[in-house]
Amino acid sequence: MGRVKLTDTVFRDAHQSLLATRMRTRDMLPIAEKMDQVGFFSLETWGGATFDTCIRYLNEDPWERLRALKKAMPNTPMQMLLRGQNLVGYRHYADDVVDKFVEKAAINGVDIFRIFDAVNDIRNMERSIKAAQKMEKHIQGGISYTISPVHSNELFAQFAVRLAELGCDSICIKDMAGLITPKNAHDLIRAVKKEVSLPINLHTHCTSGMAQMSYFYACQAGVDILDTAMSPLSGGSSQPATESLVASLQGTPYDTGLDLELLTEIKRYFEKIMEVYAPVFNPISARLDTNVLVYQVPGGMLSNLVSQLVEQKALDKYEEVLVEIPKVRKDLGYPPLVTPTSQIVGTQAVLNVITGDRYKMVPKEVKDYVKGLYGKSPAMIDPKVRLKVLCDEEPITVRPADLLAPEYENARKAVDALKLAKQEEDYLTYALYPQVALKFLQGAAVEEQLVKKSPAATVSAPINAEPMALNVEIDGESYLVKVAPAGMTIEEAKPKAPKDGVTVPMQGVIIRYKIKKGDRVAEGDVVAVLEAMKMEQNILANKSGTVKEIYINAGTTVTPGDVLMTIE
Ligand code: MN
Repeated sequence: MGRVKLTDTVFRDAHQSLLATRMRTRDMLPIAEKMDQVGFFSLETWGGATFDTCIRYLNEDPWERLRALKKAMPNTPMQMLLRGQNLVGYRHYADDVVDKFVEKAAINGVDIFRIFDAVNDIRNMERSIKAAQKMEKHIQGGISYTISPVHSNELFAQFAVRLAELGCDSICIKDMAGLITPKNAHDLIRAVKKEVSLPINLHTHCTSGMAQMSYFYACQAGVDILDTAMSPLSGGSSQPATESLVASLQGTPYDTGLDLELLTEIKRYFEKIMEVYAPVFNPISARLDTNVLVYQVPGGMLSNLVSQLVEQKALDKYEEVLVEIPKVRKDLGYPPLVTPTSQIVGTQAVLNVITGDRYKMVPKEVKDYVKGLYGKSPAMIDPKVRLKVLCDEEPITVRPADLLAPEYENARKAVDALKLAKQEEDYLTYALYPQVALKFLQGAAVEEQLVKKSPAATVSAPINAEPMALNVEIDGESYLVKVAPAGMTIEEAKPKAPKDGVTVPMQGVIIRYKIKKGDRVAEGDVVAVLEAMKMEQNILANKSGTVKEIYINAGTTVTPGDVLMTIE
């Protein structure tokens, strides 16, 4: 067995796991030249959540980051994480957007495309694999690792065979939740190696405390590449430390051959970087979390869960939700828990617990999942749940993206109409994230500051002439306050809404109305869409009749019991 190669994730997964993906390009570039000298198999620098974060919080062009890093590190293959048909977004994009995105990513500097799909539906990966092949790039086919009664090493090995048949150059076992035990790391790598002759890469997280031992067992099974992160950004929900693994394997048949002194020099730089980013570093993410061993819930998903429950003022339901998650996952056919399925399962579990009535409230994303729009679930979806979620609608059987009309030209026209394109890549940024991209391309985005929030209140929504409820953040704590225009008290400002109107079931923002005053509606019709916990919830008419009055503007934050409208 030969030497083991390392992929360092410090520029992508490590800061996505520990620093909310907030590392700036300007903090990467000063150390890039040294990172380039180490001799890593590759550097994971792009994709995952970095694209979204760049335009949403950092006022940075992700394409420019890619070019700058490539220029600064010309000798090490540049790797990105691509969510198959989801690219770097949270929904499926049409094939023309996939083709163009992969083409531009390759042109701007991506050498290795790690491509995966949340539910291991190969139909969601084929298009991006083909697009990367066309650009003659290295394709690493990802297997989303999970544990369930329907997943087995044989099944994963068969999936690897299909990825090899599609022309992948290497295989990644992507254990995004840190679930893999040393024994199973060994057995799974052996099982895959028996079926395919491609190099195998193991990716895991330290969340549960097993990663380093799993890596050693993986070495013994003949793993070719391991993912690690420079030590200041390692451990916890990130990867095992690069330097420690290099030292651990020295003198063994798996010796990486990397220079520990050079790595230590680099480490000093990242120690300083961690000080810079201390305000966004959540110590919880650096802790071991053995809940993962029992509930199989990835670390990132747990912290997301806590913030959802805080938002709904239901943190006391945390334990109940932890118990509900595996049940929802079973109902939904055991999807691996990774973006976006982790959000889908987690949010449904929260809704089931806080409403006290399972699947009474179902976000659009969950409905889409049950309908098959995210791909085929690993096991059958519970027929009772399917009926409750879809009513009489039938799930789709075709490849989800077959239902999507081309999108690229429309994005191009929209950006050109506003004369916002400085480069062709801007059309893609817009196609992926229309709202956030528009603000970014217009130059209206501002870089989020890295200082701890001052005691002065920061208002998170614009104030207009209407009385409204706002989420106000004070010292990192979120409070709901009601404000009215000057000279008016809250009570005066608040329209008196009758109690028998259509009410809001949970805290969120009314993002749009499907009806207007005077429209006729039938009981059960969707009248408005509420965004709660980052997902869309339909608000239904409580009776048939004519919409008499609408009391709350779209864009307003609402709390449970607020009356949206009356129907007569
Ligand atoms: Mn990961």
